[in-house]
Amino acid sequence: MKKLLFGFVFLIFIVLFLWLVSEHVALYLRARVAKDPAVAAAFLDVGQGDATFIEFPDKRQMLVDCGRDARVLEALGRVMRFYDRTIDYLVVTHPDSDHYAGCIDVLRRFNIRTIVYNGAPKSYDELWNVFRESLDQEVKAGALYEEITSARTVEIGGATIRYLYPDHPLSADPAIPGTNERADNNGSIVFRLTYGVGNILMTGDMEEPLENYLVRLSGESLDSEVLKAGHHGSGSSSSEVLVSAVAPRMAVVSAGKDNPYGHPSPRVVKRLERAGARVLRTDRDHDILLALTRDSVYVIRPKSPPAGAKAFSRFFSFPGLGIWRAIGRLDRL
Ligand SMILES: [Zn+2]
Repeated sequence: MKKLLFGFVFLIFIVLFLWLVSEHVALYLRARVAKDPAVAAAFLDVGQGDATFIEFPDKRQMLVDCGRDARVLEALGRVMRFYDRTIDYLVVTHPDSDHYAGCIDVLRRFNIRTIVYNGAPKSYDELWNVFRESLDQEVKAGALYEEITSARTVEIGGATIRYLYPDHPLSADPAIPGTNERADNNGSIVFRLTYGVGNILMTGDMEEPLENYLVRLSGESLDSEVLKAGHHGSGSSSSEVLVSAVAPRMAVVSAGKDNPYGHPSPRVVKRLERAGARVLRTDRDHDILLALTRDSVYVIRPKSPPAGAKAFSRFFSFPGLGIWRAIGRLDRL
């Protein structure tokens, strides 16, 4: 009996020890990459849907969309520390369930400081009402609530976020200015994140009509190393006009394995590749991690990590351990 107890206590010590070591390995690797301050962006594999986690140089965090269900919590567990229960910004690009529904779980689990929404109502949708209710509760608990109603720039920890759309209140007029295109996908919050020499263009489910509008409005200033392909790489997005204005070196498609919509469209993938972009997809590459430092953009996945690290982190699956391994500069891939 005593032996058994001793064995048990010993086992607990071993587990505690390994846990501490793994946290230190994570911090060490992290410190090595982040010698220079960086913006880290993780395009999370949440199945069919979008969820992108961004950490700024001042450690503030932003989640852009939440996928369609609680899988987002598991995904956040892969990039956040287990004791971290606060997210500074929750951006919900538009009211499609593959973008907002997982936010119900996120709002339940995390304290959100600022909620950013495109302002489009969808009160006929029961699930959206549940989302709206949890959002209102978060605001009652002290969160700020903002709607994007004009093009504007905010600065977070030395990085710049330029909100490009909506550029007018969608609740008053859901159409793209000068067109009859209604909101829905084309009401998505679109923004360009800049840090150092790197840019990421975030698109929600933007489709061709909004792409054309933004290219007319902003043209060459959309130019970005990294494009999150709009609407899961669907054929209705990433038009020739947008792709040539953005001229991305890398495009990220957030889509579920074997999804019934055929996302991403093979034509779109080809178009992006022809334009010189490397296409990474969450359905094949799992989480896609980037670090923007002052002078480079690093792709942290999907280059294969050292075998030991992989086995170790998979076995124990400690949050944070996976994030900073296997680094390649975007311009050298
Ligand atoms: Zn979508």
